Amino acid sequence: MAISLLLASAMLYVRWLTPGEPALAQWAVAFVLVAYGLFGGAMRGQIPAFMSVELANAALLGAYGLLWTGTRSFDRRAPRTVYALIAPLAWVVLVQFPPLSDSMVDRVIVISTMISVLLVLSIVQLARRRALASKPRQTLVGLLSVALLVNLGRIIFAPSQVSGGQVLLFTDPSMAWLGMVGVAMAMFICFILVLMVRERSELIYKSAALLDPLTGALNRRGFLERSLSAAMAGGPCAAMVCDLDRFKQVNDRFGHAAGDRLLALFSDVLHERLRQSDVVARIGGEEFAAVLPGADLARAREVAARVQGAFAEASAKLGLTDGAGLLVGTVSIGLAVTVLPPDAGADQIETGLQDLIAQADRALYGAKAAGRNRIETGEAFRSSPGTAAGAA
Ligand code: GH3
Ligand code: MG
Ligand code: MG
Repeated sequence: MAISLLLASAMLYVRWLTPGEPALAQWAVAFVLVAYGLFGGAMRGQIPAFMSVELANAALLGAYGLLWTGTRSFDRRAPRTVYALIAPLAWVVLVQFPPLSDSMVDRVIVISTMISVLLVLSIVQLARRRALASKPRQTLVGLLSVALLVNLGRIIFAPSQVSGGQVLLFTDPSMAWLGMVGVAMAMFICFILVLMVRERSELIYKSAALLDPLTGALNRRGFLERSLSAAMAGGPCAAMVCDLDRFKQVNDRFGHAAGDRLLALFSDVLHERLRQSDVVARIGGEEFAAVLPGADLARAREVAARVQGAFAEASAKLGLTDGAGLLVGTVSIGLAVTVLPPDAGADQIETGLQDLIAQADRALYGAKAAGRNRIETGEAFRSSPGTAAGAA
């Protein structure tokens, strides 16, 4: 019992360290309930039966319920915390009437069935989000599955667990080891839950460092990291560097806030027009870049033209008008393509990408010099030793 309270305190401590994780509060309450459940079980015969049997089991059911609603909160679903009350309330009511009020075997069966259902709900919640799969999460699924098997076993062997009006599991000294295993499991589960929370908060901080807060696109650092992993497979690859035209004038005419809106809008257009596998980033003030693995020049041109068209249309819809008329955003785009070697190392791919982007950047200068609102393509890649594209 003392251990459960310690686990609950550990949860609250981690909650303090990790603000904004509502699941921790639910799991902390779950461990407090476990503490009461164990206390009630241990005090059987010394305190009123209502407190040791009914309430203690209700507390355990509440703990399993909160474990489940906690996993829902953790996955950012509606937590449905009240659902955690259903099983304990149903239990407290059912146990007042026959056959549960008379038969201890039936009580064992009902309580184990309810616990099993709640465990299945938690396991399903943890296993269904493939995208969130992580080692601690998989371990938790494994641990809860073991707990599920134990409970299913209790249902099947319920009659042999009761003797002389006592549940052997709690009274028979030869079963004491099971209690120890249970406590160890609870500690392990607490540890895993904490790991899951910390792992995710680290991930959030890590990805925040790679994102541009204004547009939600990757920043320059994120761009370098992600485009490298996106291009590692080798093969054809296109790069696109975009610079909004006369953006300074947009700020001057409509204000900095309108400029910000236009930047976010352009980022949205890029994300909508490119594929999920493409890497899109804001690499400077009003400069964006994209790497399109698998794209050849024809596809890159087509995408660039669609980006220009969609940006003009979407920016006109903002309805920003002044003496000079309606603002229609234009963008200059530089393109470059290469074929990256399939079995190259990270260094080689990185150099290849850097050359590719530099080339698209030069094409962008060409587009600006030629009057803006244009798409230009970088000249054929110069063969240079040591670069990935040089081999192509
Ligand atoms: P060009 O067609 O040659 O690209 O002209 P330009 O005005 O777009 O280019 P220039 O580099 O002269 O100006 C870029 C402007 O972008 C200047 C800067 O104030 C503005 N800018 C950079 N970052 C932000 C931002 O985060 N928000 C807003 N509103 N403006 C920004
Ligand atoms: Mg510009
Ligand atoms: Mg610029």
